[in-house]
Amino acid sequence: MAIEQARPGVIDGSALRADFPVFDRPHRSGVRLCFLDSAASAPKPRTVIEAVADTYAHHYANVHRGIYELSEDATGRFEDARRSLARFIGATSDREVVFVRNATEAINLVAYSWGRSNVGPDDLLLSTEMEHHANLVPWQQLADATRARLEYVRVTDDGRLDLDDLRARMARGPRLVALAHVSNALGTINPVAEIAAMAREVGAVTVLDAAQSVPHLPVDVARLGVDFAALSGHKMLGPSGIGALWGRRELLDAMPPFMTGGSMISRVTLEGTSWNEVPWKFEAGTPAIAEAVGLAAAVDYLEGLGMSNVRAHERLLFERAWSALGELEGIRLLGPDSVEEHAGVISFVVDGVHPHDVATVFDAEGVAVRAGHHCAQPLMHRYDLPATTRASFSVFNDLDDIERLIDAIGSVRRLFGTA
Ligand code: PLP
Repeated sequence: MAIEQARPGVIDGSALRADFPVFDRPHRSGVRLCFLDSAASAPKPRTVIEAVADTYAHHYANVHRGIYELSEDATGRFEDARRSLARFIGATSDREVVFVRNATEAINLVAYSWGRSNVGPDDLLLSTEMEHHANLVPWQQLADATRARLEYVRVTDDGRLDLDDLRARMARGPRLVALAHVSNALGTINPVAEIAAMAREVGAVTVLDAAQSVPHLPVDVARLGVDFAALSGHKMLGPSGIGALWGRRELLDAMPPFMTGGSMISRVTLEGTSWNEVPWKFEAGTPAIAEAVGLAAAVDYLEGLGMSNVRAHERLLFERAWSALGELEGIRLLGPDSVEEHAGVISFVVDGVHPHDVATVFDAEGVAVRAGHHCAQPLMHRYDLPATTRASFSVFNDLDDIERLIDAIGSVRRLFGTA
């Protein structure tokens, strides 16, 4: 995508809330909902909701099969959505974008299809200690199925990938390196271009879990130099049930299908079947048509704001929240103490209070955050924590939300006598 000039302060989060119908809903506390859980799943702007509803109402039929106007209309919109998403993430061709349900399915597609045909006994697979289970369990399964070795790049005490450890493991010639662009549990932005270049040098394929970066930073998969990237629509203001795998064309072409059945075939006889071209080879059965159109509306919304502006806005919110939280006693902050290396996600622990209790007190004040292991249990284990509380920011948040967050921590500490 074109990297536009960032203009800090250009996004007015409170004004954008008018675009999101969920904020019309009164919170039971009587105060405005302060939503700080977009890393789990983001609210939807009206344009996305309307695009989905309009597709079902006026443009819906099955795609790629009907020889009639309505089906051609639906097919056109579905394929236009693929083109929008391809442009948004810097893919050189829309044929490299496979629609799937979510990032989890995208990573499983690679683990099954690429993995089972390219990995063998004693091959080395590299993942990291900071991965979401979606980018960890599929590699464990692949290692088990192929008798490959799976190693994890260590994470430093301050929430960065340990690059010395990474280099040492890279020197052993892995077949695959799977890592998150942005950690959902720490907010760390990993140096992906640097790591992908190292991987390329040793002949490894890089799988990027971009679920937490595509909604928040300008992402250009070609410039990053990765081989595959996975994303979820619901985290980027789009519908649930739709996501994408981007992959380099030559890799996708060479891979066998993941699931088989209708749509993904070229010709079927009782004796055997030949496959459709990419990306349709990987899209067995009827896809999520209206949801793909909704995802394109989410892309339009984010592009309208400009991804550099989105990043600048969330960075400002992060800076304010990080420094205000850092001034409080008895609060442990996780992840790098660096605005350049930290997305709009703050994971923290209030000494002496379980994160679930923190989130419950927050909820009573209309502040929605996530508490738990964030589907990153090995990372929690690494920091010897059962769970953390996580606040994550999006375009509709503003400095008032940061004040609400800080005030809610004050309430927790007063209630639990830790102030
Ligand atoms: N990767 C990361 C970093 C995530 O944060 C998540 C979801 O929280 C996923 C993958 C999985 O996304 P989904 O549940 O949409 O497949």
